[in-house]
Amino acid sequence: MMYMHYCPKCKKIFTLNGHKTLCPKCNTPMKELDITYLKYLALSPEERNSYTELHIIKENTCQDT
Ligand SMILES: [Zn+2]
Repeated sequence: MMYMHYCPKCKKIFTLNGHKTLCPKCNTPMKELDITYLKYLALSPEERNSYTELHIIKENTCQDT
């Protein structure tokens, strides 16, 4: 099963097999996205962008607390 993960350092979404916590590239803790791989595949490029932005914004605003 593939899961979507977002690395805040690489600013990239990684599709990884299983639940990973560390980025395969830089070893930074990643956030697992609340979307399945198949769902993500079904999105248009614009929807993917807005989904990513939404997550980044959410992540950034959450850092204050
Ligand atoms: Zn990374």
